[in-house]
Amino acid sequence: MHQVENQIVQAMKTLSAFGSMLREDRDIGLLLSEYANAIQRTKLAMEQEGIARACAICDETSRGGCCYPGVEEWYDWSLLAINILLGSDIPVTREIPGACLFVGPRGCRLLARHAFCVNYFCPDLISRLRGEPQNRFNAAAGQELLCGFRLERVVRSRVSILRPSRTLP
Ligand code: SF4
Repeated sequence: MHQVENQIVQAMKTLSAFGSMLREDRDIGLLLSEYANAIQRTKLAMEQEGIARACAICDETSRGGCCYPGVEEWYDWSLLAINILLGSDIPVTREIPGACLFVGPRGCRLLARHAFCVNYFCPDLISRLRGEPQNRFNAAAGQELLCGFRLERVVRSRVSILRPSRTLP
């Protein structure tokens, strides 16, 4: 079994055992809401700065775009569990051969993404996006990553209390 498949199983097992407790946790509820809003703001910044359109055009000509195979291996159980808590399905079969497990015909199928995915700019985008537009995008992306980091830390901490340490995912 590949690493990411193990991580998906761990995320699902964790939520099946503790999902209701995590969902009822007030801190986690607030952090989930902040994170979801921050993700939306990054998406909005991508649209406003023309990044989303540039990525869509690139994706039409190169299937999967910059979503390379193997990036899925960087995801661990906690970020995958957060995706499920946010209402995202975790893809378990590769839709686009030769691309990341999580990319579909309309882009990434996850809501909570790895820092690499949030920050990655191909050379073409780097050359187009400078100055204020880049600063606005960076501010939104930075906030998204900060909210995700805070949430992940609390989810890990709650699960470590609920589950004996020797069986932690
Ligand atoms: S953005 Fe999504 S689909 Fe693209 S590499 Fe990252 S996880 Fe994979």
